[in-house]
Amino acid sequence: MKANPIPPEEATWGRFDVLFENNQKILRSILEDSAAHQERSATDQQVGAFYQSCMNEDRIEALGGAPLRPELDRIAAINTRADLLAEIARLHDLQVQVFFSFSPQPDPDNARRNIANLDQGGLGLPEKDFYFRSDSHSDEIRQKYVAHIAKMLELSGIESSLAAKQAAEIMHIETALAKGSLDITARRDPKLLVHRMSLTELAAQSPAFSFDNYFRAIQAPKFSTLNVSVPSFEKTLNDLLASEPLPNLKHYLAWHYISASGPLLSHPFVDENFDFYSRALTGASQLRPRWKRCVSATDDELGEALGRLFVERTHAEEGKAHTLQIVMGIEEQMKRDINSITWMSSITKKRALEKLAAVTRKIGYPDHWRDYSSVHIESTDYFGNWYRANQFESRREIAKIGQPVDRNEWQMTPPTVNAYYEPSENNINFPAGILQPPFYSNDARDSVNYGAVGSVIGHELTHGFDDEGRQFDGDGNLRDWWTKNDRDRFAKLSNCFVNQYGGYSPVPGVELNGQLTLGENTADNGGIRLAYLALLDVLAKKAVPITQTQDGYTQTQQFFLGFAQAWCENERPEAARLQAQTDPHAPAQFRVDGTVSNMPEFGKAFSCKPSDKMMAVKACRVW
Ligand SMILES: [Zn+2]
Repeated sequence: MKANPIPPEEATWGRFDVLFENNQKILRSILEDSAAHQERSATDQQVGAFYQSCMNEDRIEALGGAPLRPELDRIAAINTRADLLAEIARLHDLQVQVFFSFSPQPDPDNARRNIANLDQGGLGLPEKDFYFRSDSHSDEIRQKYVAHIAKMLELSGIESSLAAKQAAEIMHIETALAKGSLDITARRDPKLLVHRMSLTELAAQSPAFSFDNYFRAIQAPKFSTLNVSVPSFEKTLNDLLASEPLPNLKHYLAWHYISASGPLLSHPFVDENFDFYSRALTGASQLRPRWKRCVSATDDELGEALGRLFVERTHAEEGKAHTLQIVMGIEEQMKRDINSITWMSSITKKRALEKLAAVTRKIGYPDHWRDYSSVHIESTDYFGNWYRANQFESRREIAKIGQPVDRNEWQMTPPTVNAYYEPSENNINFPAGILQPPFYSNDARDSVNYGAVGSVIGHELTHGFDDEGRQFDGDGNLRDWWTKNDRDRFAKLSNCFVNQYGGYSPVPGVELNGQLTLGENTADNGGIRLAYLALLDVLAKKAVPITQTQDGYTQTQQFFLGFAQAWCENERPEAARLQAQTDPHAPAQFRVDGTVSNMPEFGKAFSCKPSDKMMAVKACRVW
C-alpha cells in the first residue's frame, strides 16, 4: 500500500484500477489510430471522430455554455403542465434522468419477455438517504450540493441571487422525490419491486400526469399492463406535479439538463461538476487527464464499437477456452457443494441443482456486435455526438418493450474490469477486460489463476444462490422454489454475514451495512470456497501435492495470495464513506479479511494459531 499511493485524480488505487488504466492506454492508442484513419471503416469513423470531438478542447472552450441554449430556451418556454410532460419525455429521450425512470425489464413472471417498467428516479445526490441523514458530514454534503446547483445555474447564465433561490426550490423537489423512494437496501429484495398494473389503474393513481401521453411522446410500443416498481413513489410524484408551482418544476428540469451536460462543456462547467461529484463525494483532488475522460466517454457512448477494436487488438479470444475450463470446474464444485450441505432438504436441493444446470455463460465479448451506423458522429461536435448517442441508446431500449429478451446482449463492454450475474437471465458474464493479469494469465500457475479469477467466477455463480438471486428460478422468473424450512435456515446462516460485515468500519464513525452488502458477501464467501475446491481437484488430477512449494509458497498459500493480491487497494476516506453508504460491495480490505477469516483452510495454509487475528471466533458459511 505504501508503494502505491493514490494518484491525485483517483479516489481509490488498487489492482482493478491499475488494470483499468492499462486498458485505457490500449483504448487510447486504438482511438488515436482510428481518429487518424477515419476513412478506413465506418467503425473507425465513429469512434475516431467521437474521441477527436471530445479531445478538441479549443472548440469546446470557445463554445462555453452555448450548446445548452436551445434546450434551456425550450424549457423556459413551457407554459402548461402538458408542455412540461412533453419536455420530460424529451429529456428522457436524451437520457437526462428527471423525475422518474421508464425502461423495459424482463417480466418477473415470464423472464423471456420484456415488460414496461416505471421506477423511481430524478435525484442528484447518490441515493435516498443522502437527503435525510442527520449527522454533520451529511449535512455538509447537502449544503455543498445546494451551493453546487446554484453555481451550475449561474454558469448557465442565471443571476446569482436568483440561482440561490432556485437551488433551494430544486432541493425541496428532490427531497420530496427522495421521500417517496425506496432506499437501496430495501431495493435488493426483488419482490418489493413487483406491482403489475393496467394502464387504467395507473391512470387512476396519477390524475395529475397523463402517463398515456408520456408513453406516446416517448414513442413506446403499445402495451396494456406494466410493472410499477414503487407505487408509493408514483403517488409522491403525482402529488408533486399537481401541487408544485410550474416555474419550480421548470427550474428542476433545467438543473438536471445542465448537470448532465456539465462534463461536455467548457472548463468552468467541468471543474464545478468535478468539484462536487468527485472532490466532495470521493476525495479526488484533481481532474483525470482529458484523454482518460475521452476514452471513458467513448466507452460509455459507443462501447461495443470500441470494444470490438479492443478485442481484435488484445487477441481476447485466446484466453476464452481456458477460462471456460475453469468455469466448468467451478460449476462442478457448486454441484458437489449443494449435494453435500446438511442444512438443505432434498427437495430444495433438487431444484437448486436444476437451477445450477440451467446457468449459461458468456465469456469475453458478444457474438454479435451492436450496430451504431444510424448514429451521426462529427469530429467537431462533442455535445451533439454525446446526446445523439444517448438518444440512440434510449430508443434502442424503449423498442424492447413487449419483445423477447435478448440474452446474448451484454450489460458491460469488453474492456470492463468487472463481471456480473444476471438473475433474470440466470447467466454469468466475464468481459475480456477482467481476463488479464492479475486475475488471469495463460502463463500463471493454476493456484494463482484459481485464487484470482477462479474466486471471481465462483462469486458470480454464487450470486444465483444469494439472498436476492435465490428468489429467481433457473429460467430467470421470480418464483420461490424453496421450502419454508430451507428459507428459514438460509436466512439464519446469512444473518451471520450480516453481523460479521456490519461490524467492520472503513472510516471512524461509519460502519458497513451488513444487509446491503449481504448478497456480495455471500457471493465472495461462496466464490472463494468453490474456487479453492476446484483447485484441489485440478492439483489432484495433475498429481501436484498441495504442499509442493514454488518461490517458497505452497499451492494453497499461492491460492490465497492470488486471491488477496487481486484486491490490494488504497482508498480515500471520502470514497470509503461513499462506498459504505451506496455500494453493495464491501471495501476491498473486508472482502479479503471477511472471507479468509471464515475459511479454516486459510488458517491451515499459513499455520495460524487460534488466537491469530484472521481466525474468526465464529466462522460464517452459507455455501
Ligand atoms: Zn457481485
